[in-house]
Amino acid sequence: MANSEPSDVLIVGGGIAGLSLTLQLPGNARITLIAKAALDEGASLYAQSSIAAVLDEGRDSLAAHIEDTLRAGAGLCHRQAVEHVIRHGPDATRWLIAQGVPFSREDGPDGAARYHLTREGGHSHRRVFHAEDATGRAIVGALQNRVRSQSHITVLEECIAVDLISRAKLGQGGPDRCVGLYVLDKTAGTVRTLAARHMVLATGGAAKVYLYTSNPDTSTGDGIAMAWRAGCRVANMEFIQFHPTCLYHPLTKSFLISGAVRGEGGVLRRPNGERFMPRHDPRAELAPRDIVARAPSISR
Ligand SMILES: Cc1cc2nc3c(=O)[nH]c(=O)nc-3n(C[C@H](O)[C@H](O)[C@H](O)COP(=O)(O)OP(=O)(O)OC[C@H]3O[C@@H](n4cnc5c(N)ncnc54)[C@H](O)[C@@H]3O)c2cc1C
Repeated sequence: MANSEPSDVLIVGGGIAGLSLTLQLPGNARITLIAKAALDEGASLYAQSSIAAVLDEGRDSLAAHIEDTLRAGAGLCHRQAVEHVIRHGPDATRWLIAQGVPFSREDGPDGAARYHLTREGGHSHRRVFHAEDATGRAIVGALQNRVRSQSHITVLEECIAVDLISRAKLGQGGPDRCVGLYVLDKTAGTVRTLAARHMVLATGGAAKVYLYTSNPDTSTGDGIAMAWRAGCRVANMEFIQFHPTCLYHPLTKSFLISGAVRGEGGVLRRPNGERFMPRHDPRAELAPRDIVARAPSISR
């Protein structure tokens, strides 16, 4: 069936999800990582400001981070999932540091260097790690360097996954499972067949279904659609995050103005100069994103 030897694991997507999984699999697994554009083109590259994690329980606490997250989730969060993510946040952040991610530092009151933490909407403490204002670029860069230096990992860029191949599709009996993938190799202009023992879809989001979005052109929901066609359950599709602040220009693409600008004291004003957020929420510009996004910035 395949154009090449089967991989042990075939990972579709070269964003932070795909790259981190690739690096956490055993070194004796034969791994293929594919991306439909250059490896670093995806939402991960554009994530500007932040990773929230509590590494110093003296100044902040996991309990406060959990409560802030549940409050920002407005009753829609699954408490167990929130607790799991937040409790594992410190280790995940330390892992990124170990991979060489250059989070910004500052001199502490005792003169010793420490990580510079900023604050974003919905957070009661400064707990946001960042690498200047290009955190995603710094993380993707560090992880990509590590992935490219490993001989057991094959990276295929400019290769678009088109559809999953299952045993049922091949007319094989027995329990159905995914055994490979059709891939359009954009450089060669041919469709290749890749076989794999295990397959992971890490293809990012689907926000490009909207005309106005801060997401990149790669966010077209391909993996979600492929999984759906292969019979997987798809859930929570109504949760699409919109950034409340973008640069708007009629002739060029909008881009995000990071929430860290509000965290550092930036205020939102109407075209007539009037500040409007304090009327909508006591936290004003530091309210969670959905509240800021819904607050009318134009007087009616
Ligand atoms: C402007 C912006 C700012 C953000 N800021 C933050 C922030 O400050 N903090 C934060 O936590 N999050 C932030 N986010 C969200 C964050 O960037 C994403 O949640 C995260 O990067 C998703 O990572 P991912 O690996 O799942 O997807 P992506 O980074 O989008 O990667 C998807 C990968 O899949 C590949 N792919 C897609 N379809 C196919 C296909 N058919 N075949 C082959 N490959 C395919 C793409 O080429 C890409 O390599 C921001 C997002 C944006 C857009």
